[in-house]
Amino acid sequence: MRSIIHFDADAFFASVEQAADPRLRGRAIVVGGEHRGIVASASYEARRFGIYTPMPVAAARKLCPRLIVVPPRFELYEQFSANIFGMAEELTPVIEKQSIDEAYMDLTGSRLCLRKEPLELAEKLRRDVKDWLKVTISQGLARTKLLSQIAGKLHKPDALIVIPPREEEELAFLHPLPVKWLPGIGEATSQRMASAGLTRIGQVAHMPLEWLGELLGSSARTLREFANNVDDRPVVVAKADALSYSHQETFATDVMDVAHIQAVLRRLADRAFESVRADGKQVRTVTVKIRYTDMDEHQGQSSLREPTDVETDAYPLMSHLLSRLWDRRVRLRMVQVKLSNVYGPQRQMDLFGVRERQRRLSQTCERIRRRFGDRGLMREHDWRLEGAQPSARQPSRGGVVRQNASCRHPARVRQEGVSGVSVVSGRRDLERSTRRSG
Ligand SMILES: [Mg+2]
Repeated sequence: MRSIIHFDADAFFASVEQAADPRLRGRAIVVGGEHRGIVASASYEARRFGIYTPMPVAAARKLCPRLIVVPPRFELYEQFSANIFGMAEELTPVIEKQSIDEAYMDLTGSRLCLRKEPLELAEKLRRDVKDWLKVTISQGLARTKLLSQIAGKLHKPDALIVIPPREEEELAFLHPLPVKWLPGIGEATSQRMASAGLTRIGQVAHMPLEWLGELLGSSARTLREFANNVDDRPVVVAKADALSYSHQETFATDVMDVAHIQAVLRRLADRAFESVRADGKQVRTVTVKIRYTDMDEHQGQSSLREPTDVETDAYPLMSHLLSRLWDRRVRLRMVQVKLSNVYGPQRQMDLFGVRERQRRLSQTCERIRRRFGDRGLMREHDWRLEGAQPSARQPSRGGVVRQNASCRHPARVRQEGVSGVSVVSGRRDLERSTRRSG
């Protein structure tokens, strides 16, 4: 019998600010942009005024004129996060990080090793985090990931909900819940389901699959299994710094051309960010690794001011990193881009800013490529690479070396099969719906 805890810190950014500055404790505060910004996190005191995430800071001020607005300090949140995960690792090594303040823990083995019941361990974690960090977390303890996640998010803040591992009690918990609690069901889908008369998870469990398929598409089968309390997904170990998205490219002939390398880095970043968006996450840290022709390797990393899911935000950082790293007059054999410091879905801080437009642009590019292939739409760096290698985009097997006599740059080994989409652990399953950032 498995014992899984899902934990999620409550109003994380705002709680950390309150923990770090006692004057903010017990006050209505939000973390967000001071001017024309949106609320990234609201303390529970602020929520009592009807303030929620994401809403414009100006609107929040109208609801609560004495509201304290604090600019975000992501380094601080990452330090607190590392501390929380450190405490969790004392209880089990089997932790699957979902974002900076959220994870699954499998305590099945801990019962034997630590001779403590999962409930005791859950309480210990909650107590430790509260006592040492002055931040509260909410937890769900259950037999499956699905049940533990729902239980953990149902009664925030500072809650520990236990679902006894008996089929009838699990179903009694699951079936009356609104369908939006199933993974992957967003606002639009749940409205569509409601108009078809499906409002409760129990109803989904009893629907014929063909019927559900018309409503939910390819995810119908999995969602119906979830509704029937079937969930064997294991907790996959992903430690704090292992949760990342990385892509790399190895060149068939070593490269000396800076502009070409820049273009390759951008294309690698485009692909990595596609996965980030597909998982509904954001990232803050970009790492570039280079390997010289003599196998000497160097890597450097740099963090954005705030997390993002838009590749263009990372372009300037990568150029800067490359110029810093590539300091020998030696050809390169391989480059890699890694995105880490993964955050849950937060809206960007600037409400009317370019960010939202950039995100929409990226998503539109993605859709066009999905429909018409990579050549359906190309950015400047794609053109450059295309020009360098007219044959590069033709359908081919991964790892095939293509040589082209007329090309200005050497042909490359594209390792799609090997490392093309080497998402280390940002998995594209249905859990990508981290519905509430609470
Ligand atoms: Mg949270």
